[in-house]
Amino acid sequence: MQNKRILLAGRPDGWVDDTHFTEDTQPVPTISDGEVLLKTLYLSVDPYMRGRMNDTKSYIPPFQIGQPLSGGVVAQVVESKNPKFEVGDTVMGLLDWAQYSVSTGEGLRKVHGGGYPLSYHLGLLGMPGLTAYVGLVEVGRCKEGDNVFVTAASGAVGSVVGQIARNMGCYVAGSAGSDEKVAHLKDTLGFNDAFNYKTVDSVHKTIAGCFPKGIDVAFENVGGAQFEAAIWNMALFGRIALCGMIADYNISREDMPVGPRGMTNLIGRNVTLQGFIVSNYPDAAPKWDAQCRAWLAEGKMTYQESVADGISAAPSAFVGMLKGQNHGKQIVKVSDE
Ligand code: NDP
Repeated sequence: MQNKRILLAGRPDGWVDDTHFTEDTQPVPTISDGEVLLKTLYLSVDPYMRGRMNDTKSYIPPFQIGQPLSGGVVAQVVESKNPKFEVGDTVMGLLDWAQYSVSTGEGLRKVHGGGYPLSYHLGLLGMPGLTAYVGLVEVGRCKEGDNVFVTAASGAVGSVVGQIARNMGCYVAGSAGSDEKVAHLKDTLGFNDAFNYKTVDSVHKTIAGCFPKGIDVAFENVGGAQFEAAIWNMALFGRIALCGMIADYNISREDMPVGPRGMTNLIGRNVTLQGFIVSNYPDAAPKWDAQCRAWLAEGKMTYQESVADGISAAPSAFVGMLKGQNHGKQIVKVSDE
């Protein structure tokens, strides 16, 4: 049996493309006492991985050139020399971008579909879903009746933010990068309003039109011009949950624009601006899991996935997601259960 892996070939300076990745084929590894052999079923491609391609110190270490990339993976135990795991168990962990990998079991969590696809553990029932919940409820201190704005609103995190806000009885408007995505937000996800940030004449004026009383909670996934426009439209005592700034991820440090402008607005309006990393909120995970499953059962949570096929498709799925080609959560199906 052979094991295809995706390795980092080089570090991008600016935009990432397929040349920054390479694929190799190795024999499937053997395991020692205490280890398990895992067959990858699904792997997650996430925006934060772009930061790990840079050789910079961060909350998570950089990928190494010539070594496999790694990230959220749902896998099946195919051989076990660890008493805690049996052949056939499905697990979730931070594992290599490979068809097979070896683990000591540390950091692995057994997962069950529970009536939903196993891939949901990489999205709605996993890190992106929890990010939406933590950012909106704990960081953004969102409450019934608030006016909520979310950017990258049709993506893995943003689509859940909007639905949580809607379920909590808030007014919610979002932005996305195509008319098709905007229609999905309004027609399927129940956003009160949405706009295509690429085609409106003025993002600033469009946000002002959506929020005549100002934004109480801005869930920021993008940065750049949209973030600046949100800053000018915040309500008194508004909260900004700074989740991500994907508009900056493929800009080299030298080319990074100055900004955002208008920060003085945050002083006069007593606005709280707080960044957060979801892994620092582990206590929220059981709360989100229970709430999300309840909403799924009641038909109050809709979820969309873009599925790329096969490990070799992972690099282009990753680059495509950074360019907005995904609809909902981008995953890669590596093998059948
Ligand atoms: P998405 O599923 O939303 O995919 C990324 C989307 O970003 C694209 O589909 C695209 O949508 C949008 N995008 C890309 N470039 C730009 C740009 N220049 N301007 C505006 N939009 C752009 O990804 P996730 O939901 O996984 O992540 C969303 C954000 O949340 C990211 O910034 C990510 O880093 C952050 N994040 C933060 C976490 C934390 O703990 N703080 C945890 C998880 C995610 P479109 O077509 O609409 O442009």
